[in-house]
Amino acid sequence: MVTSADLAAARQLAIELTRSLRFAPELSRTETTVSAECDQLVQHRVFCDRLLDAGRRCLLAADHPAACLAESPRQRISRHSI
Ligand SMILES: [Zn+2]
Repeated sequence: MVTSADLAAARQLAIELTRSLRFAPELSRTETTVSAECDQLVQHRVFCDRLLDAGRRCLLAADHPAACLAESPRQRISRHSI
């Protein structure tokens, strides 16, 4: 377990950890969530992961203000090989 000061800090830490561990096929970026230690039943998504055209997923953080950014075909192949 890793702790952070607030939800925004927890999400940012989770993003950095997920990206640094992207070589590990056991790690699913799309399922990354964070929660308050005292309320672990409420999970907060870390990545947007919205389904876009041609089955691609958004790579950006959850609740991002800009338009979604699709993963490249190479990233998609890698993710589905998990
Ligand atoms: Zn998005």
